[in-house]
Amino acid sequence: MRIAIGGISHESSTFSVVPTTLEDFAQRSLAEGPELLDRYTGTRTCPGGFIDAARDFAFTLVPTLMASAVPGGPVTAEATAELTRRLCEGLRWALAEGPLDGVLLALHGAMVSELDDDGERYILRRVREVVGPKVPIVVTLDLHGNISQEMVDLVSVAVAYDEYPHTDTWQRGYEAGLLMARIVRGGVLPASALVKIPLLAGLQRQYTHAEPMLGIKHLARDLENESGILNVSYLPGFPWADIPITGFSVIVTAEGDRQRAHRAACRLAQEVWNRREQFTVRPVPVDEAVRRAMAAPEGPVVLADIGDNPGGGAPADGTVLLEALLRLGARRAALAVLRDPEVVEQARAAGEGEVITIALGGKTDDRHGRPLQVTARVVRLTEGRFTHTGPMNTSMTVDLGPTAVLELRGQRDGCVLVVVTTHRYQPTDLGVFRSQGIEPTAQQILAVKSSVHFRAAFGPIAYEIIEVDTPGITNPRLDPAAYRKLPRPIYPFDRDLEWRIDL
Ligand SMILES: [Zn+2]
Repeated sequence: MRIAIGGISHESSTFSVVPTTLEDFAQRSLAEGPELLDRYTGTRTCPGGFIDAARDFAFTLVPTLMASAVPGGPVTAEATAELTRRLCEGLRWALAEGPLDGVLLALHGAMVSELDDDGERYILRRVREVVGPKVPIVVTLDLHGNISQEMVDLVSVAVAYDEYPHTDTWQRGYEAGLLMARIVRGGVLPASALVKIPLLAGLQRQYTHAEPMLGIKHLARDLENESGILNVSYLPGFPWADIPITGFSVIVTAEGDRQRAHRAACRLAQEVWNRREQFTVRPVPVDEAVRRAMAAPEGPVVLADIGDNPGGGAPADGTVLLEALLRLGARRAALAVLRDPEVVEQARAAGEGEVITIALGGKTDDRHGRPLQVTARVVRLTEGRFTHTGPMNTSMTVDLGPTAVLELRGQRDGCVLVVVTTHRYQPTDLGVFRSQGIEPTAQQILAVKSSVHFRAAFGPIAYEIIEVDTPGITNPRLDPAAYRKLPRPIYPFDRDLEWRIDL
């Protein structure tokens, strides 16, 4: 049985002013052919799950192309066309050597391209042109996907992550492989139904280990355990995409029975809708958050800089929280990461132990605070490479680019260590501090530019977690005036909306 694997994965914010280019994919992860297997074998990722499933179910794997980039602005036309072309070329080569029994793809679901607001639809249409309408295509999707009916129609099964933080990417890749084996060997005929719920769900309340998502996750598991149901996926979606398909999606796949899939999807969707009010985020004002963290009897208190989360496409050079830490005199505080390649250059030119005068951060746009005019001591210089050892993307190596740890002095003998990087990175592993010589458990305050993902690694060591109301393109207080293409009515913009599911 010959199964091709590959994927193109990107979460795109239409509020970012920085388009995502081919270089951004090359910087994060771009692997073709045998290199794809080298990079992902043994990793707790979706392609890692495909590869392990292939071993267990005796597939002959045909690697094509796997590309992913850090979330950012929409993917350029050039990058979309080029990556899709290379993926399809891999499939054509595979077909030239013999028939393909199936295709496993790791997609995201929230990719916006300059060529198509629905990036996955664009990719899947091209893939279908190559493999034809009959070859099963099973895809994995991120829980933040904004899903269209066309995308669902182009695939056999869509398997979305169940967890946020995404600690189950390997499991979902493996599940996709298992479903592929059931389709190809067991003659299972999947039939999927999509229900779209007019709800913009605040990212922080999409955390799957607390309500409202915990109950939704449990109901989904119960439905998935009913006989004849192959997969139940719930996707609260990515709210910072001003496109016609943004919102909460439920996809259910049943064995040969679309009506049955639709009924199960409606049950879950109704439960989501009943909980709609619980998806509103109420972050803590910046100064109040810093004071609370400083006054806590123990550390570390984790301050989540949720307005400037590079994992949601933000620039990671926001300065508002850092400015407050310095002004209010926070001590034993460390921040990760602040992207500022210019400052890294200055630090490297000066050398470890030297003091430099810099304009730090706030350079990408005017929505994440101003550059901070400060003097800083260069504590450490590194190449910025480390391997994830925590629960997310375990065994994957991260490349922050040349990195500098700077010590900034604040009011009243305050002191903040800042990990300044060349590339953007959402801190999802304690290695971001430890690889830079900072022990996170020894700090009173850890400031991280992350919405939710930090919780997997930082939750277990945190005395307290505070979601800080920093400005920026991932701030969860959404402004209706900023959207043009978003379907209306939608909750919470249209607060009195009464929505009924047609069974
Ligand atoms: Zn996600």
